[in-house]
Amino acid sequence: MDGASGGPIDVGGKMNGTAESMNLSPSLAGRRPLPVVEPIGAAVRPSAAEPAAEGALAADPPLNPTPELLEELAAVSARLETATPPQILEWAVARFAPRFTMATAFGPEGMCLIHMLAQIAPQTPIFNLETGYQFPETLAVRERVLQRYGIAVEFKQPALSVEQYEALHGGPLYRTNPDQCCFDRKLTVLRQSARGMYAWASAIRRDQSDARGQAAIVEWDRKFQLVKVSPLANWTKRDVWNLISQHDIPYNPLHDQGYTSIGCWPCTRAVLAGEDERAGRWSGFSKTECGLHTR
Ligand code: SF4
Repeated sequence: MDGASGGPIDVGGKMNGTAESMNLSPSLAGRRPLPVVEPIGAAVRPSAAEPAAEGALAADPPLNPTPELLEELAAVSARLETATPPQILEWAVARFAPRFTMATAFGPEGMCLIHMLAQIAPQTPIFNLETGYQFPETLAVRERVLQRYGIAVEFKQPALSVEQYEALHGGPLYRTNPDQCCFDRKLTVLRQSARGMYAWASAIRRDQSDARGQAAIVEWDRKFQLVKVSPLANWTKRDVWNLISQHDIPYNPLHDQGYTSIGCWPCTRAVLAGEDERAGRWSGFSKTECGLHTR
């Protein structure tokens, strides 16, 4: 694994300040109770007649994307271009907590953010979109996060179980219409999970794809009506694995078996030498993103 098997490696000065003290206190263990798995029900879907407010618009008080807010976000984003990821998280927590949240698929980038948040704001609500199709190895990372950091990542599930969903559609939709499957089992769940929050942390890196290359450090996310904060936008894959190596951060063991990017098991394969790191996602389809990070 790139950077994961060697000893401590310098990260080129990108981690200073808070990042230098990322060894965590044992007192963090057991801080938070086990989460309740929450099926996301159709009952909270907006009706056609009166669409429910989403994201920050549903908060009390709501946060609206006024010209003043958009101007603030643009200015802060430009200023944070040279900030470290912990500094960016510190700003986001100071500005938006307790309405600041994070969604994670337990990828290496997300694990870095969890590691940082454990120091900066361990009370930050973190959730996983539990589609029902995740690898057992992925689900097991949640337990390792709990043991290491005392942070209980909450599983958020779609209203329908895998069995109910496949029965409804006459079989697995990921084979014929993965866009719809991702919409139903990921996007809808994120949208409903983030109602009433102001901002969410994303673990995307700009160098992962052309689409992600457009990400700002801080921006208004129209798709989910939230402020989106991407502390790792300027990081490389090497930066991520260097931090994991330096601090022995838990990660999905499938990364050591050639799985460079991991999503649901039906839509993920190991990559071959020389392939793009996301080539193993939706292999055989033109689809490259689940839709969470496209505009
Ligand atoms: Fe469905 Fe595949 Fe998307 Fe998972 S990644 S929600 S299985 S299409």
